[in-house]
Order: sequence, then C-alpha cells, then structure tokens
Amino acid sequence: MATMKASCSRWAECKRIIEARRRNLIQIMGGTCVRCGSSEKLEFHHVTARKWVARKVSRWRRMQFYEDEYRDGLLELLCSYCNKIAGKPPDPDAEPDF
Ligand SMILES: [Zn+2]
Repeated sequence: MATMKASCSRWAECKRIIEARRRNLIQIMGGTCVRCGSSEKLEFHHVTARKWVARKVSRWRRMQFYEDEYRDGLLELLCSYCNKIAGKPPDPDAEPDF
C-alpha cells in the first residue's frame, strides 16, 4: 500500500497515492456494488448527506473523508448506475476521471 503522508506537494505523486488509497478502500469495502453486485464503475455513496462540499475540498482531503466515513459506517459502494438512482442529486465528486 502507498505511503501515508499528511499532504503531498507534487500533483503526479499525489494523484498516484490517492488512486492507490481509493482502490484499497474499494477492495476493503468488498469491491462490488452493494445493490446489484456489479464491480464496474464503482463510486462511493454517502449513506447520510456529507458534511463537506466537494468542490471546496481537495481530492487528497476527500480521500481522507471517505476513509473516515467508511470507518463510521457512512459510506457504501455503489456502481454509477445504482448511485444515480439512489435518490440524490448528481455527485460532482464521483471521481470517474482518474
Ligand atoms: Zn449497482
């Protein structure tokens, strides 16, 4: 697993670590959508409304929020399809763009 650092300065390195943490978290969470069992296009779904605004938070911070929320039982793994029909507004931080 990638080295944990409080922050990172170089974006390329940052991005690589975030992606590793993201994959690791998806794996810990079972690696499949909790509703349909798909392992395609997985996204983090907030069980309750999150307390932070995606656009104001760096990806690095967001990844920490995701990990914390998972530990608190506030995060579910959904595929992009189930996430869309989960009854919430489109999630700007679904992060399909890595
Ligand atoms: Zn699904």
